[in-house]
Amino acid sequence: MKQRTLAILKPDCIEAKVTGKVLDKILAAGFQIAGMKLVRMDEETAGAFYAVHRERPFYRDLVNFMSSSQCIPMVLEKEDAVEDFRKLIGGTDPAEAADATIRKEFASSKQNNIVHGSDSPENAEVEIGFFFSDAELISTG
Ligand code: ATP
Ligand code: MG
Repeated sequence: MKQRTLAILKPDCIEAKVTGKVLDKILAAGFQIAGMKLVRMDEETAGAFYAVHRERPFYRDLVNFMSSSQCIPMVLEKEDAVEDFRKLIGGTDPAEAADATIRKEFASSKQNNIVHGSDSPENAEVEIGFFFSDAELISTG
């Protein structure tokens, strides 16, 4: 049974022009794209997306970063998509991320870490609804 997760290619991914390379890795790992769009979040939207981190010291910088430029949210489908995508992207800090992960290969700092991935199936559903309506998603079967 396939599961869905929400990924976001963050502003640093697009600015570094590695969108294609990151997408190649995602597709090669067996994920299928059920929805994808280009967005420019304002501070309010980025703040709402990461509201769970509201009290953290890095919150203001994170909101500024995520609203600084374009992002590409996408809905990915695969068996165990949530857990497998977290494995593919690696730990938050690229210095500590496992070898061959997306963050190890492309990320430049703990904040500028190229990609977001939902951390639970429940949060994936909420985060998918943050960016996509049902009509914008095409199930990959
Ligand atoms: P994401 O939710 O983006 O997939 P994550 O689950 O690995 O990342 P979280 O703890 O949810 O990490 O933090 C959300 C984002 O906030 C991180 O991806 C990173 O961009 C930023 N961040 C987290 N911790 C720090 C920190 N100590 N300093 C700077 N930025 C941070
Ligand atoms: Mg997180």
